[in-house]
Amino acid sequence: MQLPLIDTFGRTHNNLRISVTDRCNIRCFYCMPAENVQFMPRNDLLTFEEIERFVRIVVPWGVDKLRLTGGEPLVRRDLPVLVEKLAAIEGIRDIGVTTNGILLAEQAQDLYDAGLRRLNVSLDALNADKFREVTRRDGYEKVIEGIHAAQAAGFRPVKVNAVSIRGITESEIVGFGHFARETGCEVRFIEYMPLDADAAWEREKVLFAAEIIEKLSQELRPLVPLANQDPRAPATDYEFDDGVGRIGFIASVSRPFCMSCNRFRLTADGKLRNCLFSLEETDIRALLRGGGSDAEIIQAVRDSILEKKEGHEINTARFVQPARPMYSIGG
Ligand code: SAM
Ligand code: SF4
Repeated sequence: MQLPLIDTFGRTHNNLRISVTDRCNIRCFYCMPAENVQFMPRNDLLTFEEIERFVRIVVPWGVDKLRLTGGEPLVRRDLPVLVEKLAAIEGIRDIGVTTNGILLAEQAQDLYDAGLRRLNVSLDALNADKFREVTRRDGYEKVIEGIHAAQAAGFRPVKVNAVSIRGITESEIVGFGHFARETGCEVRFIEYMPLDADAAWEREKVLFAAEIIEKLSQELRPLVPLANQDPRAPATDYEFDDGVGRIGFIASVSRPFCMSCNRFRLTADGKLRNCLFSLEETDIRALLRGGGSDAEIIQAVRDSILEKKEGHEINTARFVQPARPMYSIGG
């Protein structure tokens, strides 16, 4: 193996998140605009062959963990074919997909058979009305169906992500606690971050992890942190004190984990981002399509990693929201 991708703060980058499309079949208000979305022209999207080439270039430099995301990755045609190509690359030990679950019932088995083992389904509410309020679309039943199909296909556990938003999520917390206990899904609350297309995020709109822990512990059962957690993982995981039901928290706003970040991202149109919040990008697609050699491409990756900032500045007055909203970056 070559030298790993280490930045100037000593962080090693082994975890690549790949967006396969910016299109989506729902319109979560914390991510996309309600209407008139300008999607990327199809020719701008990296092909499966281009994605595979890029992954083969970075694997010898220590990348062993991938996650496919979007936009909604399941609207990209033949996603299981890409999973299979990537799973076959020697050195890749872990591939995940994050999906809104709308098309999951149709694709869960094919994804599992292609070699996928990690699946995160985003679901912010456990009732159809609140689901519609957040996503501006119908589809709650389809997501629930998709979660069941994923469990039937063999995914264990299915992780369920809920963005925690003040004024929206409070009424869902206890329901999600029961849901985790009854279904075996691990529920993860992700603090709402300033990556919405409408730039309407305010710190006051974030429902903090500590508040959810307190509510679950008081109204359901005490939550206890799991022992031996990976300190580099963004989530802190808990279980109820009787050992039934796991709940995780990604407290990006109230407890930033930038100093242990091991991630970088490739957008659907082939731009490399060294941070979710970075304001600069490296044009990998231009290299892939312009005859760039493997050496030139890895040099561009290394240069990008070396420019990674110490951390996001969400909690400071200096914070500047990136021009790309979440659906266009790849969450
Ligand atoms: N469409 C897929 C989905 O929703 O799971 C994958 C892409 S989505 C951008 C990835 C994750 O980012 C989802 O769990 C979503 O809830 C989360 N997300 C989107 N916008 C967010 C925001 N402003 N703050 C926190 N999480 C956000
Ligand atoms: Fe689509 Fe996912 Fe963004 Fe919701 S969070 S609008 S499902 S890309």
